[in-house]
Amino acid sequence: MQGFNKYYPPDYDGEKHGSLNSYRGKHALGDRARKIDQGILITRFELPFNIWCGTCNNHIGMGVRYNAEKKKVGNYYSTPIYSFRCKCHLCSGWFEIHTDPKNTRYVVVSGARQKEEDWDPEENGGFAVHDTDPNAAPIDPLAALEKSTDAQNHMNKVQIPRLEALQSHSDHYGSDPYTLSMRVRNKFRAEKKIEKEKEAADDSLKGKYGLPATLALAAESEESKARAKEEWLKGREELEAKQNTKKRMLIGVDVVPRLPPALRTSSTASSGSATAVETLRARILHNTARTSSITRLKPPHSTRVLKR
Ligand SMILES: [Zn+2]
Repeated sequence: MQGFNKYYPPDYDGEKHGSLNSYRGKHALGDRARKIDQGILITRFELPFNIWCGTCNNHIGMGVRYNAEKKKVGNYYSTPIYSFRCKCHLCSGWFEIHTDPKNTRYVVVSGARQKEEDWDPEENGGFAVHDTDPNAAPIDPLAALEKSTDAQNHMNKVQIPRLEALQSHSDHYGSDPYTLSMRVRNKFRAEKKIEKEKEAADDSLKGKYGLPATLALAAESEESKARAKEEWLKGREELEAKQNTKKRMLIGVDVVPRLPPALRTSSTASSGSATAVETLRARILHNTARTSSITRLKPPHSTRVLKR
C-alpha cells in the first residue's frame, strides 16, 4: 500500500529511507507501475477508431477504454513513439496500437484490424490536395546552384543597397524630430496668418456688396487687378462717349425744331397753303430728330416707355 497520508512510523529514518514510498517498498504510481521494470506503465487508453478483434473477430467500437500497457518503442525525430497493448474484453486476446507522430494518428500494429473510415475527397466528388507535384522536374544540382547564386547576386546588388538607402533616409528624417516639427509648425503658422487676413478681406468685401457668405471669391493677383482696372477704364470711356453723344443730340434737338418766330406767328395767323406746308415740314423734322435721338440714346426696350 502506498503512503497516502502523512503518517511517519517510529522506525522511519529520512536519511536511510528517503521517502515513505521507498520505506514501504512501493512506487509512487502504485499498482499501475507493477511492470515498470520492463518499461511498461499501465494507463487508461481509449480506442481512437472502430476495430475488429483479430482473435474473436468481434467489432469493438471507438471510445471503448482499456487498461493498456504503455511502452516507449522508438522515436520519430525527438518525439517518442508509444505502444499501447490492450487485452480484448470479449476474448482476452491481445492487440497493439502505436502512435504515429509523422502523420499525427494511431495505427493498429497487431491483433486487430482498423475499420477504414477516413474521408476520401476524390471518392466523394471532391479534390484531394497532394503535397508533391508529379510533373515536377528532378532537382538538378547545377540549376539549384545557379538559382542560389542569382539570388545571392540580387541580394547583394539590389536588395542590400536599397535597404541601406532606406535606412539612411529614415535616419535623416528620424534623427531630430523636434527641429522638423518646429519648422513645420512655423510654416503652418505663417500660412494660417495669411489665410486669416485673406478671409477677413473677403468677408468685408462680401459685407460691402451684400454677397452670400457661402460665395467663394477668386484669389486676388496682380494680373486680375490689372484686368479689373482695364475693364473699369474701358467702361468709363464708353460711358463718357455715350454721354457726349446724348449731349450732342440734345443740342441738335434744340437747334432743329426751333423755328423762326416769323414762321410760328404766320402759321397761327394766316391759313395760306405755303405757310401750312412749312409748318408741317418743321414739325416732321422736329419729330424725326426727337425719335432718332431717343433711339440712339436709350436701349431699344426702353424706347416705347419713353415715347409714351
Ligand atoms: Zn477478441
